Amino acid sequence: MEMEAEEAYPQECCGLLVGLRESEDKVKVTRVIPSPNMSTDDLTKRFEVDPRLQFELMRHLRDKPEVIVGHYHSHPDHPPLPSETDLKMALDPDMVWVIIGVEQGQAGITKAFSLESDGSAFHSKELRVLP
Ligand SMILES: [Zn+2]
Repeated sequence: MEMEAEEAYPQECCGLLVGLRESEDKVKVTRVIPSPNMSTDDLTKRFEVDPRLQFELMRHLRDKPEVIVGHYHSHPDHPPLPSETDLKMALDPDMVWVIIGVEQGQAGITKAFSLESDGSAFHSKELRVLP
């Protein structure tokens, strides 16, 4: 994800996170699926995962234990905190949002968030990289 974020700079990168739901608030990401940024807006400030990629992935996962558990995108020259646009785009409290901060082309801090069940705000989630 960090490599994707650096390569896409100064634009936002994005992609889907595939994994397993281990408990109500814990997911294990097993695969990262990069997507082209399909936003028709300013790509340095907006992202949109390719809906066709998402559809194909959902079809591919249909008979598997893995599901789409979330997605990631980068914030070029902005801190890795959900923006107001992110909050407007967020609909599903079960989805994990991973945001990679990129400072002048270098991936910095990566953080994870989930939407509150009432949709009013994000809260941060612990992010651990397993060996
Ligand atoms: Zn964002």
